[in-house]
Amino acid sequence: MLEQEIKFLPGVGPKRAAILTQELKITTVAELLYYFPYKYVDRTKFYKIREINETLPFIQVKGVITNMEVVGEGRAQRLVANFYDGDNVMELVWFRGIKFVKGTLKKKFPYVIFGKPTEFNGKWKLVHPELEEVVEEAEKKVGYIQPFYNTSEKMKSNFLASKAIQKFQHSAIQLCKGKITETLPLWLIDQLKLMPLETALVNIHFPFDPPTLRRAEYRLKFEELFYIQLKLLHLKHERQNKFKGQIFKKVGTFFNTFFHNHLPFELTGAQKRVIREIRKDTLNGKQMNRLLQGDVGSGKTMVALMISLIAMDNGFQACMMAPTEILAVQHYQSVLKLIGDLPVNVRLLTGSTKKSERLTIHKQLLDGSLNLLIGTHALLEDIVEFKNLGIVVIDEQHRFGVMQRARMWRKSFLPPHVLVMTATPIPRTLAMTVYGDLDVSVIDELPPGRKPIRTFHYYDNHRAELYQFIKKEIALGRQIYIVFPLIKESEKLDFKNLEEGYEQLRIAFPLPQYNISMVHGKLKAAAKDQEMQRFKNKETQILVATTVIEVGVDIPNASVMVIESTERFGLSQLHQLRGRVGRGADQSYCILMSSVKLSHESRQRINTMVATNDGFEIAEADMRLRGPGDLEGTQQSGLAFDLRISNLAKDGQILQYARDLAEMILATDPLLLDPKNHILTRQLLALRKNLLNWGAIS
Ligand code: ADP
Ligand code: MG
Repeated sequence: MLEQEIKFLPGVGPKRAAILTQELKITTVAELLYYFPYKYVDRTKFYKIREINETLPFIQVKGVITNMEVVGEGRAQRLVANFYDGDNVMELVWFRGIKFVKGTLKKKFPYVIFGKPTEFNGKWKLVHPELEEVVEEAEKKVGYIQPFYNTSEKMKSNFLASKAIQKFQHSAIQLCKGKITETLPLWLIDQLKLMPLETALVNIHFPFDPPTLRRAEYRLKFEELFYIQLKLLHLKHERQNKFKGQIFKKVGTFFNTFFHNHLPFELTGAQKRVIREIRKDTLNGKQMNRLLQGDVGSGKTMVALMISLIAMDNGFQACMMAPTEILAVQHYQSVLKLIGDLPVNVRLLTGSTKKSERLTIHKQLLDGSLNLLIGTHALLEDIVEFKNLGIVVIDEQHRFGVMQRARMWRKSFLPPHVLVMTATPIPRTLAMTVYGDLDVSVIDELPPGRKPIRTFHYYDNHRAELYQFIKKEIALGRQIYIVFPLIKESEKLDFKNLEEGYEQLRIAFPLPQYNISMVHGKLKAAAKDQEMQRFKNKETQILVATTVIEVGVDIPNASVMVIESTERFGLSQLHQLRGRVGRGADQSYCILMSSVKLSHESRQRINTMVATNDGFEIAEADMRLRGPGDLEGTQQSGLAFDLRISNLAKDGQILQYARDLAEMILATDPLLLDPKNHILTRQLLALRKNLLNWGAIS
């Protein structure tokens, strides 16, 4: 029954079925049943007209139409009916379908009207109300919890609005009642006191009452999240059993010399803990797949370098991949500086590496004399082959696609250990879902002596004060970043923005007292590098840039980050940008410039930035504001993110519970061979059809 095609369902037919398939990807009855309402309106309550006030989003009133007439001319023409509830009268108004509506309305006949009330000249009215005939009070047509389904414009114009979907759901349930097979093991349903699947599906579309609806939602959300977690954890177990990992048996001269003679500071407790966690992974003979999360400036690069040194101590090669050339160059330079006279052969490979250097790199990678390769996407090219790659570090991994990461797996006979790092904290729930098959380490401690960055919001008309402030900071020997938004749709406009900004700054900060560098996406790598170097060497006091400097750039003397047109940036981007300052011992500042006119959402973003420096808090706020699907990193992550009913911003508790249970089940029955778990195997197989094989690619 569930696999039956939708076109055979009463009232649907081939034409509407085609539209449903096209617009909602619904072809079978099962797919229809799993198309859930996005909201409900409680229509169990009836109002009297005198009770109506502006706080009510919807009202429902019983009464009769006492008279109606068409008034106005042309586009202002409308049908106005007086609706009488026994005590008072209100107006019902139609602007469209006037003739049709007028033909169907019956006077002195009991109706229930429903809609959003509006006030005009002290009188309440309903524009385009929903209207239901009260044939018999007892009938279930009125006084229920009404589901609302999302529909497209095309659907609406083909008489496939929410109400129509509701009717189809009714037919679908009639058809399938008593025949829907359970998708969770009975023992689990019993233990968690979950609602059976069929009851849940009936009540999600036609809730008996609000408490029953909540139980139905819980059951369906739990199931959805549970299977995703079971799937991810199952893949993780599978991967760990399938792939042997390289063993980094000893800690040798590279690491020890570095640790005792080169380390310029004491490691933080969190850095030490994470190094121990990774170290453990490289000893157990299993391939490591670990996500290292740590707020901007928490010192992830140091962790990556120290692990790479251990790999080298065991005769392996290591590589670090960064998403931008600037960042790769910076890693390269800081690694060179850190290792000093250690006999480590480190090289840089990017899109602009010269051909002769390239050839040397390829040769040294193959003969094993190159120890550490740092680079950009250029590392992914097939021609880049290693003799014995032991570990791959991928920095700012959210900038890479899943497929790109997968390619690094094939760079070695045995898959290398993989450490992905991100400074874009993502909410825990999202991490569990997007990176659910990875182990996670967190650096939750900043190096000592950092003063929290102070963040201020200025409107554009206070620019003079901003310039005052910048001059004061420059006089103290500090340096300033000024960032302009990148406008994706129009590179030209983007450039113009930056150029104009630059011109304006030139006037406010004249030569020879003030020197300004400018960096943007259109510059050639060498020119970009030169500009960055001038700033790094303190030859310039101000660096004007687009978001190319967003990730990773590390210049401790820069203490002010000015962000222009803040409203154009997303929260995680703003947090990244702010993370460019606050790296030295001086008090740092982040100044958010914006126009005076701000949307509600922009204002909330800015307020969040001003209120907190905590990346995780910001990530949570971002998810609440935008929803998980839009968060940076989730789109490229490729995870089929069509959660039908769960919301990662709201259902964190259910998710954690589901993950714990999945973990518990796999701990006692790793291959899911126990007969009481056979439903789980069946459902996982069904899921496998829909999801890519994450285990082998993340
Ligand atoms: P991120 O985690 O954002 O990549 P980085 O690795 O760029 O951070 O480190 C930020 C800065 O902090 C660098 O200048 C680095 O040298 C410094 N740093 C790292 N670890 C420590 C530490 N334990 N104590 C002091 N400074 C540190
Ligand atoms: Mg970094």
